[in-house]
Amino acid sequence: MPIRRLAPLVVNQIAAGEVVARPASVVKELIENAIDAEAMQIDVEIENGGRDLIRVADDGVGIRFDELSLAVATHSTSKISDAEDLAAIASLGFRGEALASIAAVSRMSVVSRPRDAEGAGRIDVEGDRTSEPRPAPGPPGTTVTVRNLFFNTPARRKFLRSDQTEAARVSETVQHLALGHPYIAFTLTSGARRTIDLPPRQERRLRVLAVLGGELDDELLELDVTQRGIGIWGMVGKPAIARGTAKHQQVFLNGRFISDRSITHAIKEAYRGLIDPGRHPTIVLFIQIDPGQVDVNVHPTKAEVRFRNQAAMHGAILSAVRDCLRRADLTPALDLTSVGSPREAPLIIPGPPRAFGSGLAGAPPSASYDSARQFVEYFRRLDPKQKGFVYSEVKEALAEQAPELLIDDDAKPQAAQDVEVLPVIRPVTDVLQIHSSFIVTQDEEGLLIIDQHALHERVLFEQLADAIGKGNLESQRLLMPETVDVDATQIEFLDELGPLFVRIGIEAQQIGPASIGINAFSSFLFERGVEPGPFIRDLLDRAAREGVNDDPEAALHEVLDMMACKAAIKSGDKLTAEEIAELLQQREKVERSSNCPHGRPTTLHLSIQELEKQFGRR
Ligand code: ADP
Ligand code: MG
Repeated sequence: MPIRRLAPLVVNQIAAGEVVARPASVVKELIENAIDAEAMQIDVEIENGGRDLIRVADDGVGIRFDELSLAVATHSTSKISDAEDLAAIASLGFRGEALASIAAVSRMSVVSRPRDAEGAGRIDVEGDRTSEPRPAPGPPGTTVTVRNLFFNTPARRKFLRSDQTEAARVSETVQHLALGHPYIAFTLTSGARRTIDLPPRQERRLRVLAVLGGELDDELLELDVTQRGIGIWGMVGKPAIARGTAKHQQVFLNGRFISDRSITHAIKEAYRGLIDPGRHPTIVLFIQIDPGQVDVNVHPTKAEVRFRNQAAMHGAILSAVRDCLRRADLTPALDLTSVGSPREAPLIIPGPPRAFGSGLAGAPPSASYDSARQFVEYFRRLDPKQKGFVYSEVKEALAEQAPELLIDDDAKPQAAQDVEVLPVIRPVTDVLQIHSSFIVTQDEEGLLIIDQHALHERVLFEQLADAIGKGNLESQRLLMPETVDVDATQIEFLDELGPLFVRIGIEAQQIGPASIGINAFSSFLFERGVEPGPFIRDLLDRAAREGVNDDPEAALHEVLDMMACKAAIKSGDKLTAEEIAELLQQREKVERSSNCPHGRPTTLHLSIQELEKQFGRR
């Protein structure tokens, strides 16, 4: 075929291929235009998933009558004027292609009236025919109507899914944009149903709850930090509300919904050990940075961006989210409220019980009392009603273990100055093991039910993670090398797992077509009665089944996980009082003790208030 220049319509249809993939992409472009036009109210209407009709109406600045033809022409924009502007884009649009691209694959009309104009103007475009603008009735603002999407590009039309699926995508798009712009009112009407209705000037926390679901209120932690020019505000979901899909993980950069692999990675890292690696946290992050620090011109739909300083962005997100999770107590509160009876007040989710002297109930979890005086002072300041049994217990414990610290309530606290508090071991009498699986105990606010396996697994995981941070795990030589029989697929993974073996203290090599010799094994596992042969077979099995993670850190994490799981107390193991006491003590030492490495809770909390309510005492 000879080379020829393509007709403008074909060029536009090709361009449309990049930005206009489905009704949702049309909706995205039109809403973005409305936002750029400073609208306060945006109403979206679709019929049959957007296939037959898409209408986006706004009350923004409008388009001047004499500019209507230009607005729908290719490469025409009011948002940038030269190449320099590309370096710091503050608007959502800038390519000047959306309206022209949409018009190339639909029957489109634009009715617009600038705020100070007497009347509106209207222009219609169908394929490569553009009408002359003509006066028309219309309120201030702009209404774009798109009918019969892809009527002239059947190939595209074939790729559309069911009306319901397309409508769901539109709804998702409206939600993304609404989340990023909480000050704007949004509605979405799909056929006869109004599916989204968000008021203007909504506080951003309320907007997030309105979009994600108000029932998540107690499950979302608020994050608000600014560091080195990066502002991050967000709602960080507790591990318990992690999902099977990444749908509830949303990142906005300067109001634009983006998907960025490095940010996704940072979020995943922050949740490492709190949720199963296969699940996705519920998290909404709003990042503000100087537009000059980011290039949004790398992808036609602008969903991907490039940061000037990618490492700084990754680090900022990781530390912000991780700190937010660390500060929070992630122990789920048991809510026995029967369906239908509304909760009066949010349940208090207290911090983990602490050994006296290492921090106190009611104090921020990070508080530490470095001198006995501070510790005693703290109690003296407490309202007597608040002290409850804690106070008497402390007194008793002090009388036993450090009588010199015991002072009269009215006496001056000097007596206690500079004396270190000895750790007071909580008596094990208020602890019960149930069905050899759960431990029931109390803290200052109520009742704790602990899954012994999950908690021990978490404790061991933290110990392992800590140890591996300092170097390879300790290894123990076997007196007699152990031989394990494996199958051909499993043996394929021996080389790949080699570096991991070294890190966890295992020395093994192939000694026959289907057998492996183990010369040394991890001391940690040895001490806890885990047998080398079955452990290594399990590891190879898992590698053969699921593959080895490309990310060496993640692969290591998975193996540590497995080690912790195998070495942990099992559900069904009868524990002695000492073992229970030790486990509870470890619980206090371990960060993130609220969840096992897979993200399941280790502990449930039932508050006294809730109990009283259930017994009809309040
Ligand atoms: P871009 O948004 O990249 O500039 P578009 O093709 O989406 O390109 O829009 C072209 C121009 O039309 C915009 O630059 C803007 O001036 C005008 N325009 C489009 N939609 C609206 C709207 N809803 N309100 C006011 N002006 C609009
Ligand atoms: Mg645009």
